Amino acid sequence: MNTPDDLAARATRVYRDAIVIDTHNDMFTRVLDEGYDPDVRHAAQEAHTDIPRLVESGITAQFMAAWVDAPYALARPDESFARAMRYIDAIHAAIERNPDTLLLATDTEGIVRAKREGKVAILIGVEGGHAIEDSLGNLRELHRRGARYLTLTWNNGNSWAGSSIGEHDTRTGGLTSFGEEVIRELDRLGMLVDLSHVSEETFYDVLAVTKSSVLASHSCARALSDHPRNLTDEQLRAIARNGGVAQLNFFPLFLDTAFREAFERVETDISARRTANADAHAPLSGELRALRAAMVARIPPVPLSVVLDHIDHMVRVAGIDHVGALGSDFVGISATPSGLGDVTRIPILARSLLERGYSDSDVAKLLGENVLRVMREGER
Ligand SMILES: [Zn+2]
Repeated sequence: MNTPDDLAARATRVYRDAIVIDTHNDMFTRVLDEGYDPDVRHAAQEAHTDIPRLVESGITAQFMAAWVDAPYALARPDESFARAMRYIDAIHAAIERNPDTLLLATDTEGIVRAKREGKVAILIGVEGGHAIEDSLGNLRELHRRGARYLTLTWNNGNSWAGSSIGEHDTRTGGLTSFGEEVIRELDRLGMLVDLSHVSEETFYDVLAVTKSSVLASHSCARALSDHPRNLTDEQLRAIARNGGVAQLNFFPLFLDTAFREAFERVETDISARRTANADAHAPLSGELRALRAAMVARIPPVPLSVVLDHIDHMVRVAGIDHVGALGSDFVGISATPSGLGDVTRIPILARSLLERGYSDSDVAKLLGENVLRVMREGER
């Protein structure tokens, strides 16, 4: 029988020994667009992440997103690749400024070395396939600079892959023949295909083409919350058959229907406040952003138990080897579940999963071992 003290000690040990990998964090968007300083510690509620808090979290490896926003595909398409490269430069620079605490990892060996040296491995994932501007040469260049996954679409589709949202009337269908070439090139490079954000049609088209295990870097279970960004049971089973892994997103918008409805009311209200002639692609004004944040903060929070419910469901459907608890999407999300307010709270997952009855080795799989396995397979 576990007393609370036993459980706490067990959770500490499991977390300390585990390779803990989070596959999605958007901190560098704040760094590029808002002059956010990642090197200093910020208040708990600000940006969910900075390097001091990342170190404190005890995480082994963090994928940082190089996210290319939809307007780059639509209004400034020939700047998409340069935008991704600016992210990558900023990520490299942060690692170079912090050699005692961070290292750049481009493979599983790097992650294991970070664990051994007590550092945080930083990995790079490019989010939004429009970043390659329809060029395999650009894709190879992103890989050469350290990118190790490509999220094929964002909320906008591109000329060769469809998105689950199809924002701004972009593509929602399947892969084109050039899209199939992109998948084969990713396989050849040993760069992971990330299926978060893509349409169901593109999802299954990719699985028919790829010879590698796939990643869904930040997605929840559609059976529990019917949002198009989430994975259906059928998709979860397909990921399991492929040998891949689906990593859970912490955004309450994707986790919980009541939260989503309240959130959508806020979005409707905010868009009504935009002046009628405002460019639909232009970013929100600072004033409206602040108002939206205040309105979102008033929505009743989603408890941590809902996060665990999604993990339980995904494990039931896909199996313990094909699910991960950490595709946090920190910084990219405008609300967090209770108890998971920033990266320093990540260790709570170990204890919560043990409380749900997972074994020590199952918890290690959910915290990062499954991602490590998928990466290893890609390296072979
Ligand atoms: Zn995303």
